[in-house]
Amino acid sequence: MRDVSVPLLRIAPVRAAVFRFVPALLALVPPACGRSPGPGATTTTSTTTTTSTNVGAAEPPQGASPPDDGGPSDSPTTTTTTTTTTTTNGDGGQAQDAAAEPCSHVPGVCCVAVQPLGDVPAEEVEAVAGALREMYGFEVRVLDPVELPQSAWYEPRQRWRAELLNDFLRGRVPEGCDRIAGLTTKDISTTKGDVEDWGILGLADMPGPACVFSTYRCRRKVHEVPPLERLRRVAIHEVGHTLGLPHCPTYGCFLEDAGGKAETIDRETFLCDVCRERLGWIE
Ligand SMILES: [Zn+2]
Ligand SMILES: [Zn+2]
Repeated sequence: MRDVSVPLLRIAPVRAAVFRFVPALLALVPPACGRSPGPGATTTTSTTTTTSTNVGAAEPPQGASPPDDGGPSDSPTTTTTTTTTTTTNGDGGQAQDAAAEPCSHVPGVCCVAVQPLGDVPAEEVEAVAGALREMYGFEVRVLDPVELPQSAWYEPRQRWRAELLNDFLRGRVPEGCDRIAGLTTKDISTTKGDVEDWGILGLADMPGPACVFSTYRCRRKVHEVPPLERLRRVAIHEVGHTLGLPHCPTYGCFLEDAGGKAETIDRETFLCDVCRERLGWIE
């Protein structure tokens, strides 16, 4: 559950592989959500007409592409590319730095999709997107709204089951994104301990692709912290779980357990050193 090292490890071989193809590959390395296959993958059709740059540019960035891309990596080009690599290594210093530029503050996670579930005011969607950009440096992609799935409706309490919403969301992470955050104005709930149906602010995979949170409880018992600010903090909290951050005992940390009460969130104003260390932000 707490193993933050998973996303950290995932990126390592990718980068290592990219380094080997600098700088000809540089143009092919996608800037942010690097999941798209290299555009040059249409390999030089026939015989090895080798100007070294051509071959280099045609080589798909193997490490940067998912394995099921089916790039022609075993074609004769591979042999030729080895030669190219040796050539380009000499002046690769600067390009190597550029290739190592992280896509966000969190290794291995570049893009988060925000999925409005039902009607969600634009300012709430924007508050969430802004919070995720600012805290984690993510690219945030706001998806078109979809209705809440009927499968998640909990008739006895007339509200929506968060774990079933996450089941729904998990299969909807768009190409090029790493996480999906569902956002709704409806009340959501889940089972907590002995309580069959406990109203909550949000629920997340830890770590994993999906989380969901609701503005419903952010609007209740508002004192000093406005609902939109509460929502920003909930977003940071839930997406933090998807990155592998467990609940944090530090008073006032964003990852403190709110226990379903928005008032708890009002005191959460920072990400503490323990959590930052888990994200690899401090040694
Ligand atoms: Zn939590
Ligand atoms: Zn913390």
